[in-house]
Amino acid sequence: MNVCIGSWGVGVLQKRRIAKLVFAFLIGISALIIPGAGPAAMDGLGERPAEAAAIRVTMLGTGTPLPVATQYGASTLVEAGGQALLFDCGRGCGIRLAQARREIFNKLDAVFLTHLHSDHVVGLPDLWLNGWTQGRRAPLSIWGPVGTKDMMTGIRSAFAFDTHMRGEVERVPASMTGLQTDIVEISGDGVIFRQGGVTVTAFLVDHAAIDPAFGFRIDYDGKSVLLSGDTRPTENLVKYGSSVDLFILDVMSPMMIKNVRAQRTSREAEIIIGHHMTASQAAEIFARTGPRLAVYTHTINKSAVAANLIAATREGYAGPLLVGEDLMEISIGAKILVRRPPGSALPALD
Ligand SMILES: [Zn+2]
Repeated sequence: MNVCIGSWGVGVLQKRRIAKLVFAFLIGISALIIPGAGPAAMDGLGERPAEAAAIRVTMLGTGTPLPVATQYGASTLVEAGGQALLFDCGRGCGIRLAQARREIFNKLDAVFLTHLHSDHVVGLPDLWLNGWTQGRRAPLSIWGPVGTKDMMTGIRSAFAFDTHMRGEVERVPASMTGLQTDIVEISGDGVIFRQGGVTVTAFLVDHAAIDPAFGFRIDYDGKSVLLSGDTRPTENLVKYGSSVDLFILDVMSPMMIKNVRAQRTSREAEIIIGHHMTASQAAEIFARTGPRLAVYTHTINKSAVAANLIAATREGYAGPLLVGEDLMEISIGAKILVRRPPGSALPALD
């Protein structure tokens, strides 16, 4: 098991990470800390990992519906086999995509939506329109639950003035084809995408009343990633997540649960909490599936909240675990390399 942690813009290794490295070495886990690659470039994240990876995952948005400047809405970029696949497009996904990979902003191969809660799709109009104005010439391909076509029809209607003026009056975008969408509505479990050696499998999850809601498993070259979407415990997470290399899981941290209960009526609080996974439930899922690396998302990742979340998870799970953050990059090959964005203050791998 190899998990390596690097950090952009961090020139001095933290004592805690060194201690963890020594500890990991002593217990037989080969872990390395990659020195920082220098300050991040203005429009990108600096150097790419040196090791060739089968799959590269960039967590574009790891937040909740709460408007927080440091955490945008749910969105994850998965690159494999020369393709760029976007999963969910919450608040600011276009900004994060431009920060991470400006060169593919108008060249995404596919967009997949786990469900139609606004915090997972509110960035879609921005991505659709600006991808077009910045040169997308092919239709935007979208896979999503039933309702995705209606939603896109509404978005198209809402922005009809803009698309008419830019596309038909001023004719500045190179192609009207880039405004088109190819939408496939997912009906249940099964392979939904197979292209260039990359397979995407959709599976139903349990997001309380939000039905259907999907998780996705991505496979390429013997490596795999599972994105849970929003869900509470369901056997499908174990079925599709067994022995994946990277398991990215929705969770509601103990401190978030405490805050929700303090700020909402008891009825509202239990409904909100009942849509997601607790730390102890997540620990059980991880323990049953045994990923090479488990990463939390859809949670507030202030350092104290993250440390508390990891501590709660440790009561039932001992494997490699991180709390995700926007622009965290995870490269999956023979080793798993994790690169954090500049200024990261989250707990290191333990
Ligand atoms: Zn949701």
